[in-house]
Amino acid sequence: MALTANANETEAFPQTASLLKLARERDAALRARPGVLANGYAEDDHAYPVFCERAKGAYVWDVDGNRYIDLVLGFGSVVLGHNHRTVTAAVTRALEQGVCPTLACREQIELAERLAEIIPNAEMSFFLKTGSDATSLAVRLARAITGRSTVLRWGYHGWHDWCAPSPHGTVAGHREKTRSFTYNSLTSLNDAFAAAPDDVACVIMMPFEIDMPDAGFLEGVRALCSEKGALLVFDEVRSGFRVALGGAQQAFGVDADLICMSKAIANGHPLSVLSGRADHMRHLATVSASSTFFRGRDGFAAGLATIGELTKAFEAGQPERISALLCKAFDNAIAKSGAPMVRVGHDAAPFLSWPHVSPDLEVRALRRFCAAMLGQGVLLHPTHHWFFSLALDPEDITQLEDAAVRVLAGMVSDGAFED
Ligand code: PMP
Repeated sequence: MALTANANETEAFPQTASLLKLARERDAALRARPGVLANGYAEDDHAYPVFCERAKGAYVWDVDGNRYIDLVLGFGSVVLGHNHRTVTAAVTRALEQGVCPTLACREQIELAERLAEIIPNAEMSFFLKTGSDATSLAVRLARAITGRSTVLRWGYHGWHDWCAPSPHGTVAGHREKTRSFTYNSLTSLNDAFAAAPDDVACVIMMPFEIDMPDAGFLEGVRALCSEKGALLVFDEVRSGFRVALGGAQQAFGVDADLICMSKAIANGHPLSVLSGRADHMRHLATVSASSTFFRGRDGFAAGLATIGELTKAFEAGQPERISALLCKAFDNAIAKSGAPMVRVGHDAAPFLSWPHVSPDLEVRALRRFCAAMLGQGVLLHPTHHWFFSLALDPEDITQLEDAAVRVLAGMVSDGAFED
C-alpha cells in the first residue's frame, strides 16, 4: 500500500514536482502492524511519515529513505542538530561508566554549577527527567513554601493531572485550585488573583508562545506576584537555551523565582531541571520529589556537553544568525508567492499564521502547507511552532525558501486561501 499524503499534494500542485520519492511502503507497513503499541499516533499524523530511520545534523530520514530538513527537532529539544558529535561522545563515556549507579555523580554537581552561572536566579537545581516532572514539582514547591493552594497558569505545562489539556481521566478536584489567565492581559491576571484572595501560591507561565509579550507585561506579572506574595515560575521548557543562553529571563530582563527547563538543555536526551533561588529551593527537603532515574549520568553528561556547545554558539551570535536567515526565508516565501500569511512568534521559534480568518480555515491551510512541504523535503508541524538547529546551513535554508515559495504559490493558484 502506498501512502497518499505527498501524492495528494503533488496532484494538487502538479506544477511542483516533489523532490522526494513518494513511495512510503515501509512506513505504511509499520503503521499497519496492529495492536501492541499503545503509544499510537494521532489521525493527524497520517499526513506524515510516522517512522524515522535515523537522524543526523539538520536532517531526519524516514524508513523509506526520504530525507527531510527538520524544523520540529524533537519538539524543540535538538538545538545543536541530531546526533551531535560532542554530545554523543559525552553520553557514550557516561554509558561506559555505568548510567544508573544509585549514588550521585560528579557531572550532576558540575551541571548545577554551570546552570547557576548562566541562568539568572538558578542558585540551586533539582534534576528530573521530563518537563512535566519539573512543572509539577514547581507547583508543589510553591504551595509548600507559601502554604497556599491556588495556581494561576498560562500555557502548556505537560500532561499531569493539574494541567492536562484534556480533563478525561482526571477528577475535577485536581483542577479546581488551578485557574488560567489571558496572555498579555494584566487585567485578567489581576482578576484571577482577586478570585482567590490571599490564596495564590504561584503564577506559572510560558514566557511567550506565539504572541510576544507586550511592553511591560512580563514586568507587570512580576510586580503583581511580588505584591500578592505569590511566586513567579517561568516554564522555560521550550524557551530555555533557545532565546538566549540564560533563557527568557535574560532575553526579557525579568526575574522569576523558580525556573523549569528541559528540552534543549541536553540536545534531545531526557533531562529536566527545576532551578531557583536557594531560599526557595531549600524547601524541597519538605516535599516529595523523587525518581528512580533522576541521577542518570547520561543526562547530565549530555547537558554539560550541550551547554558547552551552546555557550560558544551564543558567544559567536550563531543562534541569532541562523534564526534571522530562517525568518527571512519564510518572509521571502510569503512575499514571492503572494500568500496572505504572516510570520509570527519569536525569531528563535517562528510559525506562519493566516490572520483574520477562522481558526479552522487557518489550521486547514497550515496542514496543507506542512503536508506539501514534506513533499519538498522539509519537516514542519502544522499546530506547533518550529525551531532552528545549529546544524542548519545556508544551503538548507535556501532549499527551504524555494520549497516554501513553490508550495505557497501553488496554494495561491489553487484557491487554497479563498475563504
Ligand atoms: N512545558 C512546556 C512549555 C512544554 O512545551 C512542554 C512539552 N512540550 C512541557 C512543559 C512538558 O514537557 P514533557 O513533555 O517533557 O513532559
